[in-house]
Amino acid sequence: ANIPSPVVSFAHFGFDERLMKTLRKSEFATPTPIQTQAIPSALSGRDIIGIAKTGSGKTAAFVWPAIVHIMAQDQLQVDDGPIVLICAPTRELAQQIHLECKKYGKPYNINSACAFGGGNMHEQIVACKEGCEILVCTPGRLIDLVKKKGTNLNRVTYLVFDEADRMFDMGFEPQVRSIADHVRPDRQCLLFSATFKKKVERLARDILTDPVRIVQGEVGEANQDILQIVHIMQNGSSKWAWLLSKLVEFTVLGKVLIFVTRKDNCAELAKNLKENGFTAGLIHGDMAQFDRTQVINEFKKRDVPILVATDVAARGLDIPSIRTVVNYDVARDIDTHTHRIGRTGRAGEKGTAYTLLTPVDKEFAPNLVRNLENANQVVPDDLFNMAM
Ligand code: ADP
Ligand code: MG
Repeated sequence: ANIPSPVVSFAHFGFDERLMKTLRKSEFATPTPIQTQAIPSALSGRDIIGIAKTGSGKTAAFVWPAIVHIMAQDQLQVDDGPIVLICAPTRELAQQIHLECKKYGKPYNINSACAFGGGNMHEQIVACKEGCEILVCTPGRLIDLVKKKGTNLNRVTYLVFDEADRMFDMGFEPQVRSIADHVRPDRQCLLFSATFKKKVERLARDILTDPVRIVQGEVGEANQDILQIVHIMQNGSSKWAWLLSKLVEFTVLGKVLIFVTRKDNCAELAKNLKENGFTAGLIHGDMAQFDRTQVINEFKKRDVPILVATDVAARGLDIPSIRTVVNYDVARDIDTHTHRIGRTGRAGEKGTAYTLLTPVDKEFAPNLVRNLENANQVVPDDLFNMAM
């Protein structure tokens, strides 16, 4: 559950001047949501499963951390095989990624090679032998190259599978699994896909270690800017510890709305937050209308950046620019869940919704799984298992 927080500006990634200089030339204004979410985790060495629609900037989300990864290695001799291995389903995609790698790697003298079926095998072997820290390839050709000793995977510590769903559609599953098997088990592995089907889920389960799950997509209607993250936790105290560890970062991003199921939990959580130095308001159905209105106004003006609420009280509230919704207790039903999440990501603003479950929420798990599946969201393994 220890996931680095998203950052909002390129400057916050901590990239060095060489990378920043190339980035400035790209004239990107801000990181895309998937970059914001994936890069801190990738830089911290975590495995990642990233689901986001086409055009969301996934390539850079794994290429930039790959550069940092390579630069962190000890000096190694040429002709040692790649450090970063990137597999893509098609020749076009591999070439496109290769170009990005060259662009961002150039100031570091990082070499990238590209190998795909139908291309000249001899030339590809030469390119590998000349020394490449990055190898971008289609799965079938990589296996041929390794068999012919054109390259080796001994040095690979950063492994990427891009467009995993398309690899499956093209029948590359055995090759993908074989490649994953031939790379040292302590590697960092990143898996990207535009959609999250059962097969991708199974692959993720088999080849990733404790991955950070990143989903960017639609929740409910027209909410393309919401990121949904589900955490399964041991008990109430793990939820509380998680909230405390994240809340400062959340409040820096914007307003935080925390949902609980019962009004006594509401009062207790608000009290605990205040005792820990946070300015938090509460709103539940037993409060007088006057008090509710006052709390909402304070929250709107951001005098109170954190609001703890029950579902009844939150119905129909129109609070602009909530950046973070925390389902501290799971909703009673899936409609309420959708309604809660709809409090963020409005009018094109970016928002993140966190849902915390503990073993006592087992009953809610199957509904949540179905909801996530319908919305083409990632279903975390532990949630999936809980729903069984
Ligand atoms: P995906 O793999 O998710 O389909 P790509 O990585 O191919 O997306 O990126 C899609 C386009 O967005 C590319 O033209 C890329 O240069 C551009 N792009 C990437 N990052 C950013 C950013 N932070 N801001 C603006 N454009 C970006
Ligand atoms: Mg892509």
